[in-house]
Amino acid sequence: MPKTPDMADIKDRLADILVRTSEAAARGVREGDGCRVIAMSKTHPAGRIREALAAGHRIFGENRIQEAAEKWLDLRQDFPDIELHLIGGLQTNKVKDAVALFDVIQTVDREKLARALKKEMDKSGKTVRLFIQVNTGEEPQKGGIPSSELPALLRCCRDELDLAIEGLMCIPPLDEEPALHFALLKKLAGRFGLEKLSMGMSGDFELAAEMGAHYVRVGTAIFGARISR
Ligand SMILES: *Cc1c(COP(=O)(O)O)cnc(C)c1O
Repeated sequence: MPKTPDMADIKDRLADILVRTSEAAARGVREGDGCRVIAMSKTHPAGRIREALAAGHRIFGENRIQEAAEKWLDLRQDFPDIELHLIGGLQTNKVKDAVALFDVIQTVDREKLARALKKEMDKSGKTVRLFIQVNTGEEPQKGGIPSSELPALLRCCRDELDLAIEGLMCIPPLDEEPALHFALLKKLAGRFGLEKLSMGMSGDFELAAEMGAHYVRVGTAIFGARISR
């Protein structure tokens, strides 16, 4: 059992992850920006998140709208310069809340959702940065669009909706070599002229950064084991 980190541990672990990410990114081949770390704070209470904020970190990820609203409406008052990513399944009836709360949504995976996001952004006047989630392992229980359907979704976003897509995100199957999935995501992004890649978690963020990720998503290695909810 990993022991629950105390507050000082969060700061130290975060610093360690940031260094390892930039070293890995520097080893790899990349165009444009370096690699950023999204601190995945889902299940962790605001008090722990504040430790990471106090250490200067500003990029965070959550996977549930309700939980994110409960924590981040307050946190954002104190730290207006945060960049909050939604990295979890999004129902169309929650799109209004998601657009209001998040700066980036990484889980666009169907036309209906893209249409709802476009409509809400037009209505609210707020632009949210968008990534398409690709189900590179073709796992039925997982979110994301199969890679074969990516061209049609992109066409819909670009030609019909005039909706900018910044990049691609994937979550490799647990029992497969992540490098194969990272390589596939990179190939797809190159083929369709997409700029950014979101890939890599606590177990493989250095590999992902080295393979060209612009965002890695690290939860457990910063905050410790997730708290059951
Ligand atoms: C929770 C989560 C992560 C972080 O996972 P860790 O293994 O705890 O680093 C990354 N990506 C997604 C999509 C997640 O839901």
